[in-house]
Amino acid sequence: MCTHPRSTVGGGQEDVKWPCNQTKYITHFPEERLIVSYGSGYGGNALLGKKCFALRIASVMAYEEDWLAEHMLIMGVESPNHEKTYVAASFPSACGKTNFAMLIPPKEMDGWKITTVGDDIAWIHRDLTGRLVAINPESGYFGVAPGTNYETNPNAMETIRKNTIFTNVAITPDLDVWWEGMTKEVPDGLTDWKGKPYDKNSGQPAAHPNSRFTVSASQNPAVDPAWDDPKGVRIKAFLFGGRRANAVPLVYQSFNWNFGVYTAATMGSETTAAAFGAQGVVRRDPFAMLPFMGYNIGDYINHWLQFGRSLPNAPRIFNVNWFRKDENGKFIWPGFGQNMRVLKWIIDRIYGRASAVESPIGWVPRYEDIEWSGIDFSRDKFEQIMTIDRELWKQELLSHEHLFESFYNRLPKEFLFMRQLLLSSLWRSPEKWGLEPEVV
Ligand code: GDP
Ligand code: MN
Repeated sequence: MCTHPRSTVGGGQEDVKWPCNQTKYITHFPEERLIVSYGSGYGGNALLGKKCFALRIASVMAYEEDWLAEHMLIMGVESPNHEKTYVAASFPSACGKTNFAMLIPPKEMDGWKITTVGDDIAWIHRDLTGRLVAINPESGYFGVAPGTNYETNPNAMETIRKNTIFTNVAITPDLDVWWEGMTKEVPDGLTDWKGKPYDKNSGQPAAHPNSRFTVSASQNPAVDPAWDDPKGVRIKAFLFGGRRANAVPLVYQSFNWNFGVYTAATMGSETTAAAFGAQGVVRRDPFAMLPFMGYNIGDYINHWLQFGRSLPNAPRIFNVNWFRKDENGKFIWPGFGQNMRVLKWIIDRIYGRASAVESPIGWVPRYEDIEWSGIDFSRDKFEQIMTIDRELWKQELLSHEHLFESFYNRLPKEFLFMRQLLLSSLWRSPEKWGLEPEVV
């Protein structure tokens, strides 16, 4: 055992003991439904019911038993006339699932209400009539603390006011918690996440960038009434989306289930400053499940295609991207609560109420198809985040091919054809595909 002196919050000292062997094993044995995790205190490796069981082992069970275990949030969307729709959304880690699941609509969109069923994992079954129903297998949230504040995610802040376990956050002199982005001003007299007095000029964060809160879902003021109903909630749409500075538009609807599966399987996200490696590099993260698939990726994609064949009325599939940037590297779309405007279009599409135009990659809203009351977002800006640039998409499709080579032996044959179809649709004029103001 190693020991290390650590100052306690009250100002005293204590010795912390831990096995000093750096060896870590996080191992899964799907055949036996067995997990052995040794030597890592990282949440995803230490809380075995979460990623290890509810995603990695469960994805294998789902494959064998014909259901889906997915890295998805589940949310309820209530319209001003009290129509309730549930959707599930799959964004890679750090791409906004928790924020989206707790979204508060802008005040101009009075009457719209979001409720949270889950913020990370969905288990989805087909009922006897061929409808999809989902449950959240978790009992609470294990969320990233830095960046969480009353402006971006007030529901999360309300949820963690009491009965919450915080890990690796900073502590204020009056024994409250603090992290980067919680308030604009850094408070005086902080104890940092390592238990040392915090020096504001050190250039180091006071809270670990991956510090977390752990809290029961029942404390979320926006928790859905059916959040722990074993019958689940009926899913009418799937959303997929990563972090993309260019190429991918704010929103588009896939032509059909198979194209939706293709889009999800080729989903990419840019690495952030917090992640390892170069910044801004697109990594493919199929279904946001790359770190969590318990079996072969080709078999996984085939399972999704096969699952769709058994659905008389398959949920619609949408792609979103909140993260497109301008030439100065600034996000063009305001995001967070404003994402409700995109969600409204999605809900209206589900019921056949909203119109859309055909783009090379899917159906897209025109400027006039989005609710803009109470926000100054110009047609120009909208076109900036909706443009589908042919050159960028040619590169995009090349990188899809690169991904497909990595599991060529199990690649669904449909994917080769869909890739060709996308390529042929890109070849249209004008070269830079934009949105004509009025087409109908
Ligand atoms: P999760 O890991 O998928 O649950 O992602 P989180 O909801 O914890 O968010 C990850 C990061 O993305 C945080 O820094 C958020 O502030 C940021 N984020 C979430 N939603 C948006 C959005 O709509 N726009 C922008 N620009 N950032 C967002
Ligand atoms: Mn999350």
